[in-house]
Amino acid sequence: MTLNRRTFALGASAAAIAACTPPASEPSADYVNVYSARHYDSDRQIYAAFEQATGVRVQVLPAPGEQLLERLRAEGDATEADLIVAADAGNLWRVQDAGLLQPVVTEALSNNVPARLHDSDGNWWGFSKRARIIVYRKDAVAPEEVASMDDLASPRFRGQVIARSSTAVYNLSLLSSRIERLGAENARAWAAGVKANFARDPQGADTDQLRAVAAGEAQVTISNHYYLLRMITSEDPEVRAIADKLAISFPDQAGAGAHVNISGGGVSAHAKRKDRAIQLLEYLVSDSGQNTLAPLNIEYPIRPQIAAAPALAALGTFKEEEVPLSALGRHQAEAAAIYEAAGWR
Ligand code: FE
Repeated sequence: MTLNRRTFALGASAAAIAACTPPASEPSADYVNVYSARHYDSDRQIYAAFEQATGVRVQVLPAPGEQLLERLRAEGDATEADLIVAADAGNLWRVQDAGLLQPVVTEALSNNVPARLHDSDGNWWGFSKRARIIVYRKDAVAPEEVASMDDLASPRFRGQVIARSSTAVYNLSLLSSRIERLGAENARAWAAGVKANFARDPQGADTDQLRAVAAGEAQVTISNHYYLLRMITSEDPEVRAIADKLAISFPDQAGAGAHVNISGGGVSAHAKRKDRAIQLLEYLVSDSGQNTLAPLNIEYPIRPQIAAAPALAALGTFKEEEVPLSALGRHQAEAAAIYEAAGWR
């Protein structure tokens, strides 16, 4: 009798400890673990809204792109990851390719995420969109000179283009998309043409390119839209003054449209709380989730019916490339080889 009571008491206190020690080691239905390469305030707020709506606690383990994959690989089937969140379909594909995601298809996901913005087998689903655009210095370039990504390879811009390294997944996805649309020959010619126009060897990230173009080191660069948006909306007047020298071209509006990529999530291959992971993913793309996220987000909502944040909407609407993002992964290695051969390191 005494022994039983004692056992029960120990069990109860162990449960109490587990309940307030994230991440808990006992699988339980009231929380979900997210391994995320995104670390934005907007994400914290949408997870809080999900907790409010469902009573399910969201535990986030932040991990930048490369670390995320390494950690998941190291943890294998012992991982506590339920939902894996990353930016760029190229990164999600790497996780998928390593066998660390599982296909999930539900009506809510299929209805809310446009077909080209999720993996065709359901390994990952976009919940937010980013455009890869041309940014140029207003006093040096006329808008019609940068109407297409092809223009960056034209002799007009000899010595006037800068870009980040080709090893960055954003550039790999950009070229993968071109390979998918126009073939490897076209991609080779474009990469070589842009490389021939470089004002300097690739260095830094997208924001560094924007600053360098504003400073006169080159006339034009390639960037994800939100890096410029951050500068435009900065609280620092000096940063806004830099952004003021720059303008955006959503490229290829008369042709294929601008390259669009996603932030997205997929259910861990070894999820201990698969149902909760699906529930959170469905929430992220639901009207309620999207309407919570959109006003806070520096990226575009996953559906055109949801209003983007005002500063983002002010950049204007644009035509998007139609390429299914699930086609990009299989071109990633070839894209890397093409950049390498072109000398764009
Ligand atoms: Fe980024």
